[in-house]
Amino acid sequence: MKNSIRGEIHTVDGALIIIAEINKYQLWRLITAEIMDDMGANNFTFEAWVNNEADKTALFDNLKLYVDKWGGWIDWHQCTHDEPTAQPCVIEEEYRR
Ligand SMILES: [Zn+2]
Repeated sequence: MKNSIRGEIHTVDGALIIIAEINKYQLWRLITAEIMDDMGANNFTFEAWVNNEADKTALFDNLKLYVDKWGGWIDWHQCTHDEPTAQPCVIEEEYRR
């Protein structure tokens, strides 16, 4: 089981800064994308899977700074998508500004 952090941050230029922060941790997998929201603004979205809870807690706390800076949200959940039989993902905590 991994710990997944997902997010959508209201920035495009800040994406590289956020990715650099995420890459400080040992990742099982990282998905990033740029999407356009309902208001026509471009946002940076990601899902990052880390291997343990300590990394999840540290990364989640650090990512709050970027949510505060640019707006958007992050959440985390324990994810079984690395296992043969995956369970539905249940969000544990969300941080939104
Ligand atoms: Zn999941």
